Amino acid sequence: MEKKQFQAESKRLLEMMINSIYTQKEIFLRELISNASDAIDKIYYKALTDDKLVFDKDNYYIKVVADKENRTLTLKDTGIGMTKEELESHLGVIAKSGSLAFKKENEVQDGHTIIGQFGVGFYSAFMVADVVTVISKPLEGEGAYKWESTGADGYTLEPAEKDSVGTDIILKIKANTEEESYDEFLEEYRLKSIIKKYSDFIRYPIKMDVSGKRLKEGSESEFEDYTEEQRVNSMVPIWRKNKNELKTEDYENFYAEKRYGFDKPLKHIHISADGTVVYQAILFVPESMPFDYYTKEFEKGLELYANGVLIMDKCADLLPDYFSFVKGMVDSESLSLNISREMLQHDRQLKLIAKNIESKIKSQLLSLLKDEREKYEKFYGSFGRQLKFGVYSDYGTHKDTLQDLLLFTSSKEKKLVTLAEYVAAMPEDQKYIYYATGPSHERIEKLPQTELVAEKGYEILYLTDDIDEFAIKMLMSYKEKEFKSVSSSDLGIETDESENKEDAEQNAHQELFDHMKAQLADKVTKVKASKRLRSHPVCLSTDGELTIEMEKILNAMPNNPNVKAEKVLEINVQHSVFQSLLDAYAKDKEKLNLYTALLYNQALLIEGLPLQDPVEFTNDICKIMV
Ligand code: ADP
Ligand code: MG
Repeated sequence: MEKKQFQAESKRLLEMMINSIYTQKEIFLRELISNASDAIDKIYYKALTDDKLVFDKDNYYIKVVADKENRTLTLKDTGIGMTKEELESHLGVIAKSGSLAFKKENEVQDGHTIIGQFGVGFYSAFMVADVVTVISKPLEGEGAYKWESTGADGYTLEPAEKDSVGTDIILKIKANTEEESYDEFLEEYRLKSIIKKYSDFIRYPIKMDVSGKRLKEGSESEFEDYTEEQRVNSMVPIWRKNKNELKTEDYENFYAEKRYGFDKPLKHIHISADGTVVYQAILFVPESMPFDYYTKEFEKGLELYANGVLIMDKCADLLPDYFSFVKGMVDSESLSLNISREMLQHDRQLKLIAKNIESKIKSQLLSLLKDEREKYEKFYGSFGRQLKFGVYSDYGTHKDTLQDLLLFTSSKEKKLVTLAEYVAAMPEDQKYIYYATGPSHERIEKLPQTELVAEKGYEILYLTDDIDEFAIKMLMSYKEKEFKSVSSSDLGIETDESENKEDAEQNAHQELFDHMKAQLADKVTKVKASKRLRSHPVCLSTDGELTIEMEKILNAMPNNPNVKAEKVLEINVQHSVFQSLLDAYAKDKEKLNLYTALLYNQALLIEGLPLQDPVEFTNDICKIMV
């Protein structure tokens, strides 16, 4: 007999799992049954390609046996079994390294969520058992082996006797403690209801010996005890059931069972389509973002079934990228079982299903936005970025689909608004939809560029996500109102008297501005009298399409395109600093050059742009101090 230690990390995870407070110990049964079902599936798939192997459905089942006297609960399956090596590698290492770190980083509190995420389902058995014994005979390879463990301190492995291929898992159910009763996991009635709850649609029969009393044959009053083997799961997949028969809880269980996520879904969408294309689908909008969502490891897709049999884990063609957060499955009778991946891509049926699904998702999201705003905002917090990315990608092809799903923070109410809401609230004289970009709401609020727009009483959309402005540029307009950055040099706001005043100032001081522009050389395209500044002395704005925010983002990309926004240095001619500029221009050109450099650098700082020469900047400040 070999005695082995779990790998160090496995040991800690196991201890953690066993000792955390589980609200739902019962899920161990779901985990073990789904493993058994997976094991039978594996034989089924093998038989598809191996002529020597025949899969006779009647021979495959899962059986649950409770023995109250010995306090054991046994799960038998006729699945593919495990070799000695597989027992070691599949049951000897819990999760992969890094999962523990993940749990810590994300402060996952609820123990059962971990199980779903990391394929440590088997270990949930230790929540209810002191000893777990696995006797398994593999379909291929040597004879049976017995694996046994009492939890964190390791496991033993030795040869064993077993007649038929498959796996028996024997749980020695824990003794009751003062706080916890474990007896329920030996009660026939309770076990049946747990199986119904979580594993009803498992495609193989789950059998139990069910006992009861019945009238003796031929008698009208005499009863007898009986025990007979019964199938306790209905085997009808949830997606084939009538929506009216299902509760939200049923969908949530399905979501957990399927490992779609470790959160609870925010919304489920159950589709039974029988028009031009016949299919059923259950789709979910998750509540929180998978931890790898915005990495290239993330794979979108839905499970694809052909007439009840899983043919693909993640069929990417079923979901557009902008809805890649959707989880779920599609079952269609119109698809053939052994269709290849390449053929699928061109399959007309599949394309129709994908189109159909896309419009269903959109309409469900819109109704979530309309009827359950809070939930929608939660959703948007997790996946809004993906929608905005969808607007931007493919040259704006999908903007009409997506624009009504977008939300941005408004300057006045500091809450998320849709574009429709923004436009509806626009005063009559407002021509544009204004937006401002920056790293945070607080920073945007302080931007000098927003002064005039805010003074007019217009609302400003605050864009803080790096994709935001690109998406806005792609939209160009909404309900015929064009978007305008508060930093663009022409704000499109008519300021009657002051307009002329600043134009007059501009003309009067053109020479001064020309001098400053010459000194700044190609750092700016223009120096001009500002029409927007009220209390600040200086700011940068831009001419043309490319804004400073976009310049920053584009140049931060790995293939740095080295783009330059056309920057305009705006000077507030009402500010007392301007008088100093005029004086210096008249008397001391060197001083003017110093002031110009300082003002330009200040404007850079306000924009969050790096100074070309910070040392020179501090030296310049010293110069005006002495
Ligand atoms: P997961 O099911 O997510 O892979 P588990 O911890 O539930 O993680 O199981 C670990 C592995 O052990 C499975 O992937 C499978 O290879 C193996 N296994 C568990 N139970 C069985 C079983 N009844 N029959 C065959 N293999 C099994
Ligand atoms: Mg499992």
